[in-house]
Amino acid sequence: MTSNTLKLVLVSTPIGHIGSGRGGGVELTITSLIKGLTALGHEVTLVAPEGSEITSNCSQIQVSYVSGKDQESWQHKDYDSDITIPNGGILPKLWERALELGKYADAILNFGYDWLPIWLTERVNLEIYHLISMGNVSAAMHSIVKQISLENQHRLAFHTYRQASDFELNEKPIVVGNGFDLDNYKLQLNKNGSLGWAGRIAPEKGLEDAVKVASALKDKLVVWGLIEDSKYAESIEASVSPGTIDWRGFLPTKQLQKELGACRALINTPKWNEAYGNVVVEAMACGVPVVAYDRGGPGELITSGLTGWLVPPDDINELINATSKVNKIDRRNCRIWVEESASKEKFTNRIVEWISNGIRAKTT
Ligand code: UDP
Repeated sequence: MTSNTLKLVLVSTPIGHIGSGRGGGVELTITSLIKGLTALGHEVTLVAPEGSEITSNCSQIQVSYVSGKDQESWQHKDYDSDITIPNGGILPKLWERALELGKYADAILNFGYDWLPIWLTERVNLEIYHLISMGNVSAAMHSIVKQISLENQHRLAFHTYRQASDFELNEKPIVVGNGFDLDNYKLQLNKNGSLGWAGRIAPEKGLEDAVKVASALKDKLVVWGLIEDSKYAESIEASVSPGTIDWRGFLPTKQLQKELGACRALINTPKWNEAYGNVVVEAMACGVPVVAYDRGGPGELITSGLTGWLVPPDDINELINATSKVNKIDRRNCRIWVEESASKEKFTNRIVEWISNGIRAKTT
């Protein structure tokens, strides 16, 4: 660490390459953080699966590509599943590379929600930090997080307090929120657009409830996102009259924000303890109020009555009521909240403070 700048190795998720959509919100988090770090003069090396596309200015960072079989996401396995790595898996390869490059860096920052990197924390003489990207979806993860928290909780950070409350921690959690490159999101003030929903099309995201709202209001629901579970998507499509859902697929941020910003509301219906909820903040960055279940991260991101409405989890009638009064929200409030709380600059400062404090604590 030279004065205030850090030399960091960032390790991407082993679930899919950046740009594939399989890594969910983590892909965007890494991209905005890289932009925020390099703007402040920090030195960044990214270790990522081959095929990863980094949209920020690549010339300012080193990218070390690794190839291998994708790791299966923990949230799609049974809670008590064993820790497994496929033959030729990318996870240990990412970490072989990261441990090598980490010898010449101040710290390694892990974005993968996986057991191996967390287990390594206390077994190598390097500063490894973990930004935990999901709640308690696996017994193995719950147990390793608990173990690290006993002696080294400063190596762990979370996106929201609600997410952190899923784990058994020894101390008060470090919560860093998330960050977005706000140059990429334009405020749109028109209040008469469609209803929207965005996210991975998978059961934990609860798309079926948002569809019920659109049906009840005799409206259409525009849906963006990667279809992770096609049987689930088909069953939702079959449950409503044709044309209720307008499937738009997985769009790059630039196009997504343009279409998302034209909505009168985003409906967010998590069925799990959502760690953060990128799409909630991306919608608000465009001025779109969000109507959401008061569950997980979205419950901490939305100020009911100011930037959208929070309703009791799984209460469809309340979701319908709240959606019908969304025009009471001043769209500018949504953008202001994001500028004040979730810009890439604010997020980067929180990350730098977290890691710098950790390094300082070791050397003093
Ligand atoms: N996303 C996207 N294009 C789409 C729909 C979604 O790039 O058409 C991205 C979105 O920008 C967000 C991510 O998918 O960063 C979803 O992240 P979120 O935190 O909402 O949920 P996760 O998938 O991490 O559970």
